[in-house]
Amino acid sequence: LDAVGAALPDIASSIAAELGDQRSNIKLIASENYSSLAVQLAQGTLLTDKYAEGVPGHRFYAGCDNVDAIERRAADLARKVFGADHAYVQPHSGADANLVAFLAVLSQTVEAPTLARLGHTNLAELPEPAWEALRREIVGQRLLGMDLYSGGHLTHGYRHNVSARLFEAHSYTVDRETGFLDFDTIVRQARALRPRILMAGYSAYPRRIDFARFRELADEIGAAFVVDMAHFAGLVAGKVFTGVHDPVPHAHIVTTTTHKTLRGPRGGMVLCSSEYADAIDKGCPLVLGGPLPHAIAAKAVALHEAGLPDFGRYAHAVVDNARELADRLRGHGGRVVTGGTENHLVLLDVATSYGLTGRQAESALRSCGLTLNRNALAFDPNGPWYASGLRLGTAAVTTLGMGAAEMHEIAGIIHDVLTPAQPVDGSRARFDLPDSAVAAARARVAVLLDRHPLYPEIDLGLLA
Ligand code: PLP
Repeated sequence: LDAVGAALPDIASSIAAELGDQRSNIKLIASENYSSLAVQLAQGTLLTDKYAEGVPGHRFYAGCDNVDAIERRAADLARKVFGADHAYVQPHSGADANLVAFLAVLSQTVEAPTLARLGHTNLAELPEPAWEALRREIVGQRLLGMDLYSGGHLTHGYRHNVSARLFEAHSYTVDRETGFLDFDTIVRQARALRPRILMAGYSAYPRRIDFARFRELADEIGAAFVVDMAHFAGLVAGKVFTGVHDPVPHAHIVTTTTHKTLRGPRGGMVLCSSEYADAIDKGCPLVLGGPLPHAIAAKAVALHEAGLPDFGRYAHAVVDNARELADRLRGHGGRVVTGGTENHLVLLDVATSYGLTGRQAESALRSCGLTLNRNALAFDPNGPWYASGLRLGTAAVTTLGMGAAEMHEIAGIIHDVLTPAQPVDGSRARFDLPDSAVAAARARVAVLLDRHPLYPEIDLGLLA
């Protein structure tokens, strides 16, 4: 940090201040975690200087021997941890990983048959009129995924995302009454639409999904089945989600981020069955330019950690903690979407429970030392900006070593903050919260964090 400070003092002090922030607030953001220092240090190396377009053993740059070794090792570890046929570790993010998956399906199922019919092997040599006809066929295929407002991700066909511009995108929702996915409705929709890609996976859905049923449906309608396990990859690696709830044996392609429950560096990854391996490995040039070798080294470290027995215990504790948190919030009279959770996240309906918008609840809790995010609930009358819900995740607090007693206390703090918080003048953003409530909550947060410190081995002295 001294070297950063010598170059740009304000950036060094923001980094140090972020450590101070994360040490003095309880992180309940469901998409975040605390990666190990080994992960962070692997990422902060001279590997950032390398270009390595291509795949190991087949690069478009000289001098890639060490990057080859790193990428091979990361992919081997990914295959082993998840039991996958093939792993592609280059995507820079979850959004990239999804685009790689989509374009691989399109090249395998639309482009390749056309090229074969026309007697070509190389797309670049296709005459212009044939290319134009093929391009028109590639764009506008159907994609069926989970609606953003039901807990899906914007890369699954949200209109403002490239996925809805590349595809004719359709979505399925959760049941209005129960909040659960209704598989019979999904089957009817899928049979009527016959999408090229059937997608499952979520950012804000607190339940497990039966991926075996989805795969059966995909086979029936001739779709490629793609699962985005960005949020729950750690629960798959840690063997909490097994059998029909493990997407890897059932999906053609599985995409993920590496930085959420998996507890690695920010990044993405694609796993697939052998039939898609060659198409997925063309992530560059399909979507990506050069890979990020420093990020891939950090992914390797994280995947190694995820294969250790300790990680299995961690993943089970994440889910136990989420269940405890949901139960305790309900015990205080809160409405928890679907009545509970089977994964790492809890959706609390703060509009019904406390007469607040998600935005007010998010700000009130942050002022008391709890960092989390507001979330639109399905069919939310408050829309995504103000929202009616909070999304709470237990991945980070479990990394700190917190357990049932701490979840009990956190649920109590949340209730004791949201109860006195009152909207001001019918505003959906402003609220009143007595100073005494803030002080009491902050004191309770400090006790929890003193007992479960973040990176106690780091001492930044006055900077922190
Ligand atoms: N897919 C899902 C299900 C996600 O929740 C997210 C991130 O929140 C992404 C993809 C995108 O990941 P990234 O932010 O790394 O692009």
